[in-house]
Amino acid sequence: MSELEIPVSRLLMDGEWTPARDKGELPVLDPATGQTIQPVALGTGADVGDAVAAARRAFPAWAATSPSERGALLARWARLVGQYVEDLARYEAQDVGKPLSGGRTNIFIARGIIEYFAGAADKLTGVTLPTRTPGYLGYTVPEPYGVCAAVIPWNVPAVLTAANVAPALAAGNTVVLKPSEVAPLAPLALAGLAREAGFPPGVLNVVTGLGADAGAALTAHPDVDHISFVGSTATGRAVMRAASANLVPVKLELGGKSPNVVFADADLDTAIPAIVQSITENAGQNCYAGSRLLVEEAIRDEVVERVAEGMRAVRLGCWDQDLDMGPLVNEPQYRRVLGFLDDAKREGARVVTGGGPADLTPNGLFVQPTVFDKVSPDMRIVREEVFGPVLAVQGFSGTREAVELMNATDFGLLACVWTNDVSRALHVAGQARAGQVAVNQFHDAGVIGFPFNMQKDSGFSRGGGYGALREYTQEKAVAVRLLDR
Ligand code: NAD
Repeated sequence: MSELEIPVSRLLMDGEWTPARDKGELPVLDPATGQTIQPVALGTGADVGDAVAAARRAFPAWAATSPSERGALLARWARLVGQYVEDLARYEAQDVGKPLSGGRTNIFIARGIIEYFAGAADKLTGVTLPTRTPGYLGYTVPEPYGVCAAVIPWNVPAVLTAANVAPALAAGNTVVLKPSEVAPLAPLALAGLAREAGFPPGVLNVVTGLGADAGAALTAHPDVDHISFVGSTATGRAVMRAASANLVPVKLELGGKSPNVVFADADLDTAIPAIVQSITENAGQNCYAGSRLLVEEAIRDEVVERVAEGMRAVRLGCWDQDLDMGPLVNEPQYRRVLGFLDDAKREGARVVTGGGPADLTPNGLFVQPTVFDKVSPDMRIVREEVFGPVLAVQGFSGTREAVELMNATDFGLLACVWTNDVSRALHVAGQARAGQVAVNQFHDAGVIGFPFNMQKDSGFSRGGGYGALREYTQEKAVAVRLLDR
């Protein structure tokens, strides 16, 4: 199999690799070395306009394509992703700085998402409705919106490309994707494979560029019919304001501050490694990262010590060393996380382990896996999303206090509960003000089509699973009076 190459400094526009109108370029850096991997095109508002126009032209024929044919194209795309796992994993890993095996996992997830929607494309149905008397018929029809805009961040670019493109295409929409300027390589590579799979020109377009320019132009474009935004809560608010001007629906998947809630009867041999992984995977740069550890006082000292031991054992290295954790993605993110560490120390939190930079390579942006104990609810480290390998520990006594602490956050993405008492687990799951709950595991392993739901400042979406097809369709209701003949 030849190497999967990404055309240098090209946008995917109407089925062709095209330079940006003003020929601008943007370097993409390896965060472990500071070296440029390759430049990408610096798309601007004019390029966004071209991409939306291409998507608009492609929409009627794509919407009229049989759902089975749309599914077959998605299946072909998924197969190509499977053939190029290693190349795609390399782009994903080097671009973000994550270990190669983490990149590989992300590509498997991305392929699984595309496969899921390949199979779902021809299973999207409406309903027939009951009528008050015979002689009437009522039914609903799911219809695609039209041109969907997708703006995604840099932390899991391949997964988010699949999750925000595949269901939209399956439902008959066309898409303009704006990847993050920080990590656009895997999205471009995936889009290249979609082109190879045979999607008609204009069905999927990719404009790389800056958020304040290409991103803002896309989300404010008057000919966009639906916006998917994944990113920070602050940018999510700006995107929603832009959408309000055009009155288009928005799907927002934003930040998180997810708790691992550990009761005294929990199976700690299972819980401890999962808690460590939940905050060190992808260097803590996951929206669902387990950044708060809430632990019952009776086992607090033991759990804190064992988690700290696990954090100390995390091996740091560049993406191609394929160890446990890489650097943070770029200099601003690195400075931001170090700022959180300094503030926590100044505010009186106790450093159990870590607490500063890790000097591994001359230009690498590595941060030590860090545990803070003795934190108080008003500290930034407890309230705000750090997006780094930084854990804040709080103790509780009893289920009521556990629930209060679990929900004492502006975010509402994921809550994880660890206990062997099934009634308590289900009670806490029921009380969680979060879009997703995991019991005795971190996140959704073992479940197919788990909805990626959000509450509160984490946003609102029906992303992931079958619900995503509903997210990308509008429902038409039809009422018929059957005349006697
Ligand atoms: P970000 O908000 O800075 O950027 C996200 C995307 O928006 C990028 O493509 C960026 O170019 C673009 N953008 C920036 N300003 C814009 C504007 N004014 N208008 C339109 N687009 C604009 O986020 P980030 O730093 O790239 O990513 C980290 C954030 O993403 C974290 O908060 C994380 O929790 C969140 N995230 C959420 C999920 C989820 O599913 N909930 C998944 C992954 C990441």
